Amino acid sequence: MSHSLGTDPPTLLAATMLVYMVAGLAWLLLALTARVAPRVSLGLALANVLLAAALASQSLRGQASVWLAFWASDVMAIATLASLRLVMPALSDGGDGGDRNSRRPLAWRSASGLLLPAALALALLPYEGDMRWHTRIVFGSGLVLTLLAAIDAWRQLRARLSIRLASQLTAPLFVIALLLLLPLLNSLHRPTVAFDLLESSEFQIAWGWSMLGLGMLINATFALLVLARVILDIQRLTRRDPLTDVLNRRALSEAIDEEHHRLQRGKPYALVMIDMDHFKQLNDSLGHAAGDAALLQAVQELGTCVRDVDRFGRLGGEEFCVLLPLTDLAGAALVAERMRHNLEASSFEWQGKTWPLTASFGVAEALPEDVSADVVLRRADKGMYRAKAQGRNLVQEA
Ligand code: GH3
Ligand code: MG
Ligand code: MG
Repeated sequence: MSHSLGTDPPTLLAATMLVYMVAGLAWLLLALTARVAPRVSLGLALANVLLAAALASQSLRGQASVWLAFWASDVMAIATLASLRLVMPALSDGGDGGDRNSRRPLAWRSASGLLLPAALALALLPYEGDMRWHTRIVFGSGLVLTLLAAIDAWRQLRARLSIRLASQLTAPLFVIALLLLLPLLNSLHRPTVAFDLLESSEFQIAWGWSMLGLGMLINATFALLVLARVILDIQRLTRRDPLTDVLNRRALSEAIDEEHHRLQRGKPYALVMIDMDHFKQLNDSLGHAAGDAALLQAVQELGTCVRDVDRFGRLGGEEFCVLLPLTDLAGAALVAERMRHNLEASSFEWQGKTWPLTASFGVAEALPEDVSADVVLRRADKGMYRAKAQGRNLVQEA
């Protein structure tokens, strides 16, 4: 028999299983060594093993019992996608927001909620004659599991990326869902027959290649997602202040420079410069650890006053700066006054002692004649020094 699609089914099957086993091993090594989203890596290791096992049991058709050669392979195929769904919440493990130990619970409910009823339904259906209901159950539950995983991944990426980038990165998952939809649609108007995986027909070979392609697509997609996670983590490390998790000096300067470019297109912006009052005294009296804790609390109090579009950064030490896009001097003064009030109203407690927290604020609005963002920054700084000179715990402009 001629094999126009390239190879004979047994070789193709063996090669496909080998690819899955190697991929599974690679994910296992990644989980054990690199510790990047380790629960996702473990889930992928499991998914690859399950997919290889599903193929192995499929290859026993005609030799082994219906349970082993049919039911088990169908259930393991669904379990492959269920394990992807299960571990998807862990994509952000350890890298989300300020809480470095945050671990989102795995999606046990949706994974088992689809897998178990599907396994039960398949057990009740006879594996003979028209198999369209088997096809509907296998591909239907697989489709839902893949969609749930895709939506979960999209949501997690969306929290840290633009809609466009989040969509691009999760697009392959939606493509996989689409591929699962095809046999499902086919089963709606055409009977499906059981086939022998090792029999040489064009269809079998096409099926073999599509299983290999699907597995590689799944692995490549998850490798991409984990890579995106790593890049986001590196970005966080280079752009965020490790103590307070607000933007560091470099990231804030970049944001201000960008905003300054928009000024020429008629988009105003304002800056609020913040310097904690008598912070050296707090450090000297309560210790450096207390100073760090006080800085964290100050950032929390000040942070409640900034909008999503604003950028809050730490310039260094106990100095902070807020970039307010599309805001004029009066608006910035209002924000600064709210911040000043919030901070003054909160008191810092350390080992039974309370300590007042206040800061001095300088506000400045970017003007068309300002040649660079530095000029605006200097003006805000001047305002802040005026606030210091006039007794601190004040908002001033240059
Ligand atoms: P002023 O009201 O004039 O601003 O008084 P100040 O004491 O706040 O001013 P100064 O700039 O002289 O001192 C800032 C102090 O802030 C110096 C240092 O002890 C403390 N400081 C700066 N960075 C940190 C930090 O990361 N952690 C802690 N704990 N203290 C810091
Ligand atoms: Mg200072
Ligand atoms: Mg100070």
